[in-house]
Amino acid sequence: MMTRVAALIFDVDGTLAETEEAHRYAFNRAFSESGLNWTWNQAIYRQLLKVSGGKERILAFAPDASPELVAGLHSRKNQIYSKMVASGQVSFRPGIESLISSARAQGLKLAIATTATRANVEALLGARKAFFHTIACAEDVRKKKPDPEVYALVLKRLDLTADKCLVLEDSPNGLTAATALGLKVIVTPSLYTRGQDFSAAAAVLPDLGGVTLAQLIDLKG
Ligand SMILES: [Mg+2]
Repeated sequence: MMTRVAALIFDVDGTLAETEEAHRYAFNRAFSESGLNWTWNQAIYRQLLKVSGGKERILAFAPDASPELVAGLHSRKNQIYSKMVASGQVSFRPGIESLISSARAQGLKLAIATTATRANVEALLGARKAFFHTIACAEDVRKKKPDPEVYALVLKRLDLTADKCLVLEDSPNGLTAATALGLKVIVTPSLYTRGQDFSAAAAVLPDLGGVTLAQLIDLKG
């Protein structure tokens, strides 16, 4: 029944788009521009994602790198990443655009609950930003996921109870944050979260390609 869900709440990184692949590409570009023959393939990057922060990841890979080199590489990497997002090189995952269209057509509210920065989120959404009733970002909360703060804020701004919303996430941290408030979550694992524990999800799908809004709402249970 469509009336059971009044809003869809989306995570951004890994859920709307495979942003980590863009970050990885940007790191590799920054390395090669600096004359370094470092290449982070997916296996290496998967290990490095266990470390929070870009500079920290460079140091984890190259512990002897000077602070100046690390800072320079990180800054250049961020420039490259921002340019990629702003020029539309980071595309949405399968089914996302269609789901957003269907939800709008059915009169559902759309929201974002992310701990990415507002600049990165807005660059990725582009003109689609106007479709979202609320966008809660890193700047809006004190505690990042898995803390539920960002989801609590979105529910407050939507003026809806958890049972009227459906969440889309790609990571265990996001799943934990949302389920702490009783939200139902559909997980579409991303390249770097596949194989992790999503047993608390209402459903786990490889992606949303070919999945209708009605089917998603049925999965909410
Ligand atoms: Mg995510």
